[in-house]
Amino acid sequence: MAGTRVAVWLVNNPSPEAPALTAVLRSYDVHEPAATAAEVRALRPWTRRLREVFEAGTVAEKAGCADALLIAADCRPRLVSHGNGLPFHFHYAPVRSSLASRVKALTAAGLAHMIDDGGGERLRACGRAGCGIVFADTSRNGRRRFCSVRCANQVNVTNHRLRQRRAAAR
Ligand SMILES: [Zn+2]
Ligand SMILES: [Zn+2]
Repeated sequence: MAGTRVAVWLVNNPSPEAPALTAVLRSYDVHEPAATAAEVRALRPWTRRLREVFEAGTVAEKAGCADALLIAADCRPRLVSHGNGLPFHFHYAPVRSSLASRVKALTAAGLAHMIDDGGGERLRACGRAGCGIVFADTSRNGRRRFCSVRCANQVNVTNHRLRQRRAAAR
């Protein structure tokens, strides 16, 4: 869902240039996505709260964080059409509210929907210590632990060396 993808992008790009944020929001059909530097700044504390959902250790903790985000964002879904037979779709905050408010409501809703769908444990931070990249695991078995093949390989090499050292010490 778009809200989850925007949340992932924001957590991994906490201080974006305004045009970069605009481009991402536009790619997910967010209304009037033109972001200003002030809105980017306004979203920074929000981004830290989004990260907490990915880093929480249990689904119950993730759900607690996401629920608090729904309240903080004053998320209230509405069905909106933009006229002339265009399809109805959810808006999570009124079209007229600020872009930062709409992004907050959208990202809170995205993470909450994912948890509601039973995908809470798929909201993860990379398993390589010090990486910090978060992702929504869309793999079939839901067992992806790393953000990238690069991180997975680094951890495998480190573990391999540790095993060799232990074997040599025997
Ligand atoms: Zn719309
Ligand atoms: Zn990583």
